[in-house]
Amino acid sequence: MDQVVNQDIKQTLNFIGGKYRPSSSNKTFENICPVDGSVASIVHEADKADVDAAVKAAQAAMKGEWGQMPLTKRLDLICNLVDGINARFDEFLAAEVADTGKPVSLASHLDIPRGAANFQVFADTMKSHHGESFKQETPDGAGAIHYTSERPKGVIGVICPWNLPLLLMTWKVGPALACGNAVVVKPSEETPQTATLLGEVMNEVGIPAGVYNVINGFGPDSAGEFLTQHPGVDAITFTGETITGEAIMKSAAVGMRDVSLELGGKNAGIVFADCDMDKAIEGTLRSVFANCGQVCLSTEKMLVERPIFDEFVSRLKEGVEAMKVGVPEDKDTNMGPLVSLEHRDKVLSYYEAAVKEGATVVTGGGVPDMGDELNKGAWIEPTIWTGLADDASPITDEIFGPCCHIRPFDTEEEAIEITNDSPYGLATSIWTENLTRAHRVAPQIEVGLTWINCWFLRDLRTPFGGSKQSGIGREGGEYSLEFYLETSNICVKL
Ligand code: NAD
Repeated sequence: MDQVVNQDIKQTLNFIGGKYRPSSSNKTFENICPVDGSVASIVHEADKADVDAAVKAAQAAMKGEWGQMPLTKRLDLICNLVDGINARFDEFLAAEVADTGKPVSLASHLDIPRGAANFQVFADTMKSHHGESFKQETPDGAGAIHYTSERPKGVIGVICPWNLPLLLMTWKVGPALACGNAVVVKPSEETPQTATLLGEVMNEVGIPAGVYNVINGFGPDSAGEFLTQHPGVDAITFTGETITGEAIMKSAAVGMRDVSLELGGKNAGIVFADCDMDKAIEGTLRSVFANCGQVCLSTEKMLVERPIFDEFVSRLKEGVEAMKVGVPEDKDTNMGPLVSLEHRDKVLSYYEAAVKEGATVVTGGGVPDMGDELNKGAWIEPTIWTGLADDASPITDEIFGPCCHIRPFDTEEEAIEITNDSPYGLATSIWTENLTRAHRVAPQIEVGLTWINCWFLRDLRTPFGGSKQSGIGREGGEYSLEFYLETSNICVKL
């Protein structure tokens, strides 16, 4: 059954055991488009019975055809998902843009193509994946052989955020399915459409019913919590806020379920006086303002060596003021709205705090007038501050908006110390043309990802994840397979 379109308002249903289903309690909520406040779809909130049905469908799939399927056939089906998504590219694009308000130019080159490509990447990784074997000497001289044997973990609970909805979801579902697991996905309540639409593609390419399930709803006392507390879920992978990660880890502790957590960040950019200024400005404009600053890897804390501080601030200001804040369909748009009015309230509370705590507002700081038709949307001005103390809340807290503070520094040691003075440890960019310095500084930064003279340049085989309160575990290539496979050692005495 396809998703139902009712009275011109799209209904976003749950996808359980290969079929679209309304909520069994008939609870629904509105999914609001942040561009103009219109209703993008009516979402059917899964209750406990729906979540239970989804977990049971996944368990049945593991016991049925999917659990028995030869690896080659499984990986062929997963590769077919790429063509399946690309064949419906415009539908995925429209759904993602309606849910997030992000520019079409961004979603069409990042969210949808990379969201689809994740299936190919992990099918390829799984194809070349191999175990280990060891030959052991024994006192009787005959020896023994040890080898690893791997099997899927079972039913994986996948809880996703709203900032890159399809891409971050398939980044988990791709390897989970390649390893032979079944999944129950809980997309963000803000962005439920692409995960739900993917159910149709799963059916089209012939992925057996129950392998991929989607339950919609919120976190606490709703689908998210019902899923993480369900004893039939064997492992949980989550991307979202650190505080939510803590709640999920507590749920996972019951029954000793494994977790993979990709959490918040407060990322610094370090600009040395010997940088290539053009590259540093271009990179910083992207690292602060791409996706309206709603990327976990976004930079919100710029540290600039004193001799070039004034030049950097004035050139970044010039760059920001040349950016176009506008509707997704406009080819010239560089920045869309934030994801929701609720999130805008949070970001604006930091804009106010910055002023109260003594910041100089270099540019922005408020809400732009977008005209009558758009003013109900979650629009916000890209913003730069200087002059805040290191313990001011806009410097210490993750804001997740299009803003940064710029602070001067005098020595390499000071830059490292300020960067590391954070409970988070996700990402950093270092800008310098002195490679000796770059290699000296990079390993001293307490983060999971360090870029030198770039930002968000990803090879999907490399480890991705955060240290400290930014997460537990690594995703990407073989690192993802480690989480989705259970490894046993088999020992043969010769
Ligand atoms: P969030 O934590 O508010 O929500 C994420 C998901 O968790 C949603 O689907 C939500 O419904 C669900 N949820 C909330 N409470 C729950 C609970 N108690 N039990 C089960 N599920 C629950 O995060 P968000 O606002 O959607 O996303 C933004 C955050 O995600 C930022 O902090 C950002 O840094 C982080 N993020 C991190 C990465 C990374 O790779 N480290 C990537 C993207 C986003």
